[in-house]
Amino acid sequence: MTLLKSWVASANSADHPFPLNNLPYGVFSIGEEDPRCGVAIGDMILDMAAVEEAGLITLADTPLFDVPFWNEVMEEGPALWSALRARLRDMLAEGSPDQSEVKALLVKQSAVALHMPFLVAEYTDFYAGRQHAENMGAILRGGPELPANWLHIPIGYNGRASSVVVSGTPVRRPLGQMKAPDAEAPSFGPCKRLDIELEMGAIVGTGCDVGAPISTTQADEMIFGYVLLNDWSARDIQGWEYQPLGPFQGKAFGTSISPWIVTKEALEPFRTSVPPRDKALLPYLTETKPGLYDIDLEVLMQPAGSDTVSALSKTNYSRMYYSAAQQLTHHAVGGCGMTPGDLLGSGTISGPTKTEYGSLMEMGWAGKEPFTLDSGETRGWLEDGDTMTLRGNARGDGYTIGFGDCVGQILPALEDPFTS
Ligand code: CA
Repeated sequence: MTLLKSWVASANSADHPFPLNNLPYGVFSIGEEDPRCGVAIGDMILDMAAVEEAGLITLADTPLFDVPFWNEVMEEGPALWSALRARLRDMLAEGSPDQSEVKALLVKQSAVALHMPFLVAEYTDFYAGRQHAENMGAILRGGPELPANWLHIPIGYNGRASSVVVSGTPVRRPLGQMKAPDAEAPSFGPCKRLDIELEMGAIVGTGCDVGAPISTTQADEMIFGYVLLNDWSARDIQGWEYQPLGPFQGKAFGTSISPWIVTKEALEPFRTSVPPRDKALLPYLTETKPGLYDIDLEVLMQPAGSDTVSALSKTNYSRMYYSAAQQLTHHAVGGCGMTPGDLLGSGTISGPTKTEYGSLMEMGWAGKEPFTLDSGETRGWLEDGDTMTLRGNARGDGYTIGFGDCVGQILPALEDPFTS
């Protein structure tokens, strides 16, 4: 596929994240107006509530877009998703007969506030990056051995939907209980080992019933789209709490996602296979088509009080060992029902070298090897006021499918409310 030309001139550039090929879905507001659904095209947003009001799109019996979330579209299923994209392309393509009418319904991205693009039903986070799992093994257990189950199961845990926030929302350093290995007793206070995790989020569009396992083919059809996801992590809280049941408070204070849902259809030209298997997977996890995507990913840091942004690492989503469809299949296989708006975190994405690591834990080897930023400062963990940005782009022939940055700045911890 090559660049599809739009009459929105800013969309016709090889490097612009939102060409006609992309058409990602978000929720925006202008001033005091109610948030509603919008589609990004070039530097503009198509006001979908206005498009619907004008009768330019009629796909369902009830209005779909004058709401602050895309869940109603998601629930309609793949046939409507496809019809919607086709109609949007028709309206926004060069030479469209709808141009003059649609042009009046565009707003500038620079003039809006962006909100959560969907209601997160439930949030599950996986651990499907092999290099990340090996690095964590080396840091925590002294060797790169994977857990015995790792090559057979997409490991995950049930997280919290309540703390998922849209890009731009500050994230407060959590308070919690922690205990250093050599400390005599646990203590309570602000997290001292605050970290990020570079991940992709897969959004479940159509659900499945309790007690109804699904194949990887069905799972892939259920996925509506993808976002960038930063699974903020409190390593000291996590280190004390995680055995034997896994992450809890160390992962429950904030998860940031990028503001635009990039549809599975937009990513279709970038499908790529999972890496070679060391051991054959059980039949329920095998895929009939490649389940990962070739998406370049980047981690950037702007330290507190500095204008200098450092690129910390660059990697690719195709580094993962398990696809979102495999994760979804495994999630549902025992009878767990899935709901429109369920969010699946891929797990931290790290490539084979230090320049491809997706967490500060790995970049600074648990604080033992602090790294130097372009501003001259060093970091092992996040400090108050630091701003972290995740960026993702799939590069096609003369066009780019971008995600919109996933940004979050660290606020200082609350004062301990339990001591006076
Ligand atoms: Ca994670």
